[in-house]
Amino acid sequence: DMLVEEEDPSILVNRPPVVTIMGHVDHGKTTLLDAIRETKVTATEAGGITQHIGAYQVEINNRKITFLDTPGHAAFTTMRARGAQVTDITILVVAADDGVMPQTVEAINHAKAANVPIIVAVNKIDKPDANLDRIKQELTEHGLVAEEWGGETIFVPISALKKQGIEELLEMILLVSEMAELRANPDGRPRGTIIEAQLDKARGPAATVLVQNGTLKVGDIVVAGMTYGRVRAMVNDRGRRVKEAGPSAPVEIIGLSDVPHAGDQFVVYDDERKARALTEKRSNKLRAAEMGAQTR
Ligand code: GDP
Repeated sequence: DMLVEEEDPSILVNRPPVVTIMGHVDHGKTTLLDAIRETKVTATEAGGITQHIGAYQVEINNRKITFLDTPGHAAFTTMRARGAQVTDITILVVAADDGVMPQTVEAINHAKAANVPIIVAVNKIDKPDANLDRIKQELTEHGLVAEEWGGETIFVPISALKKQGIEELLEMILLVSEMAELRANPDGRPRGTIIEAQLDKARGPAATVLVQNGTLKVGDIVVAGMTYGRVRAMVNDRGRRVKEAGPSAPVEIIGLSDVPHAGDQFVVYDDERKARALTEKRSNKLRAAEMGAQTR
């Protein structure tokens, strides 16, 4: 993990895995994201209105998992194109009645290129023409061999619609996460990645960030891409105001002077002058590059 490389290993603690759901259109990515969110709302959180901020966290066996709430490959590729690596584990959704399709193969290639482990969720297992073995066979041809067939890939049969197999899938995510030894320093310098951002009429620029190291707090001075600002307020995935967010937590922040891009890295600075100087330097550099491109 590049972000925590400079940290003293003895102060690192386990952090929740960050999971992206990929797969062919109509194979059930959105339904699965909804099913996970609905089945794992904790008692204390029940009644809290789920807010779409681009990512959410669930808890199972007292452990958290973060899901990027944007199905499809766009989020994954946009982030990667900007040099951000946010995904720890990919769930590849394959409909049991349809099989491996072009976007299934594309998803496998994305995950492999990013060196991200894949768990296969064979969805729509409730359908009469569902065929688990056929899916295993087809994926073998793409290098994903099921454990029970002597390979290393975990396959979990699920029905996102009937909410079957969700618990098992989450447990497998925790298992793979343990093997990946995901760590962060909650006391380190807060940094992470912008997941999505937009201009809110009432609140100004609103950005969902994924904290990847350290603990982001209200009042912190944040530089994100070409913009900076002091965090005025933070809202979690339940729509609740929070004062701080630790490693792997998604949180929406208010207070940036401008709207950053998805995939931009953010980092906290102690000094507002330095933060401003850095963003000015970055935008001057960009402007110079654009002028250069025009005169060429
Ligand atoms: P996405 O394009 O991958 O996000 O797919 P959606 O989640 O939108 O699902 C596509 C269609 O498949 C919808 O009509 C869903 O209701 C249906 N669907 C999703 N999961 C299941 C499932 O487990 N069983 C059945 N029978 N239908 C499902």
